[in-house]
Amino acid sequence: MNSLLQSLDPADLQLVLECGELAAARGFRAFLVGGAVRDLVLGLESPDIDVLVVGDAIAVAQDLARQHDGEVLRHHAFQTATVTLRDGRRIDFATARSETYSKPGILPEVTPGTLEQDLERRDFTINTMALALHPDGPGELFDPCEGQEDVRGAQVRFLHEQSFSDDPTRLLRALRFALRLGYRIESRTATGIRAAAQGEFLGDISGARLGREFGKLLSEQPVAGAAALQEWGLLEGVFPGLDVDSGRLTRLAELVESEAPDELRPWMTLALLAVHLAPQERWDLVRRLNLPREAQRIVVDSGEPWRLALEALNQLSVDAPPSAVADVLDVLSAEVLAVGVSGVKESSQRDAALRYLHEHRQLVPDLDGAAILELGCADGPAVGDVLRALRRARIDGDVTDPASERTLAERLVREAN
Ligand code: ATP
Repeated sequence: MNSLLQSLDPADLQLVLECGELAAARGFRAFLVGGAVRDLVLGLESPDIDVLVVGDAIAVAQDLARQHDGEVLRHHAFQTATVTLRDGRRIDFATARSETYSKPGILPEVTPGTLEQDLERRDFTINTMALALHPDGPGELFDPCEGQEDVRGAQVRFLHEQSFSDDPTRLLRALRFALRLGYRIESRTATGIRAAAQGEFLGDISGARLGREFGKLLSEQPVAGAAALQEWGLLEGVFPGLDVDSGRLTRLAELVESEAPDELRPWMTLALLAVHLAPQERWDLVRRLNLPREAQRIVVDSGEPWRLALEALNQLSVDAPPSAVADVLDVLSAEVLAVGVSGVKESSQRDAALRYLHEHRQLVPDLDGAAILELGCADGPAVGDVLRALRRARIDGDVTDPASERTLAERLVREAN
């Protein structure tokens, strides 16, 4: 057996060989393909197991799920399936296909195909290697586009001149792989990217596909990805008026390390790229990229709502207590604040906003609504008023422990009744 296949984690090796046997039992052939093979060639661990079946991938996926009491999710339209095993491992199955592009950017016509046809429809040579899984020769490497050669030469190379017009999402994928692997972009491929940028190819793809690839690039490479888009002339093609300020992006990346959940990070970067967009343009941008609601909120609120909050901060007197800052900033999410703060130069407003973000935003009183009612407060808006006053007292350091908070609460309840 080829040593590449043997370098798989032993449990994964057993699993993919089983896929090969199940496919063979139905008269099909199966191959490990895509990122998994690329990563094996690179000597990296791959999170993906992608199995290509020349035959009926859904049937093989069902066989595997049955053997392991796993779950199978089928996509008949694409002839693909995903099996999730009881230990959480996931195997993606795809049926080998051939694709014909009738119009740039539009999804291709798909018909069942051979291994070679399936590899030829892929994006870059480093992603076109396949390892045989069939029992009569497991581990044989198919490398029709010289992917290994390009791994050795550390370059991202497309398969043919029409690659980017066929599918402009590959423009973003090229940058993502080049940055992730530290590869250069091969010269004809680079010429292709520049021509695609001039030809505004990105305008041809659906918002959902553009948003997805753009999000993948920015979540992997928040600073370098944005800079590369600008450098290759692709940022305007994503949306007119987007602009990179790498100082701000670096500041944001530092803040984001600790502040933001992974799935929101790319949209925080996008919000910074949108710094020069007017409120309506921000709405157009989130619609163009078909962004999820949370992402929309970050991009839109980093515009006018943040500007208004900053204006309100500027109007606070120098000796305003921290709770006054909280009153202004509580309406904005932590993500919007991080984006906003990274765009503000050293100033007392920046310090106040950072302090709020890191120290005060999460502060809540020990007592809750039920406790306030137990202290004899009348049911109604007074409960909320007392809780807000307790939070302000916490933020301003007027109360620092549960006992003093309770004493304050008792007084506030007496005054409210
Ligand atoms: P990652 O390590 O980021 O998961 P990957 O190579 O596995 O990278 P996927 O987006 O999961 O990338 O795609 C799996 C495979 O499908 C790729 O290796 C590539 O061969 C192929 N592929 C994905 N998108 C395209 C595309 N737009 N055009 C052609 N081939 C594609």
